[in-house]
Amino acid sequence: MSKENWQLLQKCSQETEGLDIILACDGAASVGQVGHEVAVKLTRENAEARMCCLAAVGANSKPHVAIAEKSRKLIIINGCQNNCASKIVRDKNIIPSYEITIAKEGVDKVPTLDFDAEDVDRLAKKISAEVSKLPARN
Ligand code: SF4
Repeated sequence: MSKENWQLLQKCSQETEGLDIILACDGAASVGQVGHEVAVKLTRENAEARMCCLAAVGANSKPHVAIAEKSRKLIIINGCQNNCASKIVRDKNIIPSYEITIAKEGVDKVPTLDFDAEDVDRLAKKISAEVSKLPARN
């Protein structure tokens, strides 16, 4: 896609209080990649949802920790039962609004970066429906 057609996102550092922030583990296995694609899909299709940098939260980047803390709803997507994304956030005493583990949702953890687009569509719909029923955190 040429740069002229790039979809520009909201600046999460400035608009986080009005946004549902999505942090995905992005693990290097099928389940991590499904989680990443779900996060991308939710971001692209919902102007009030925005993927943000989990690695920066883990690295104690102050702006990114603040984004997680101040988000309207905080959505955590883990690939497998190690639940790395949840642990990173909870270790900072930040309570997510919603957590999901892709490996518990009918997707096998396989050592591949390939995934089934139907799993991405199905889980994006599920998360969207469930998060829409939750109250804002702040
Ligand atoms: S939760 Fe699982 S898939 Fe995600 S980063 Fe951790 S070990 Fe990898």
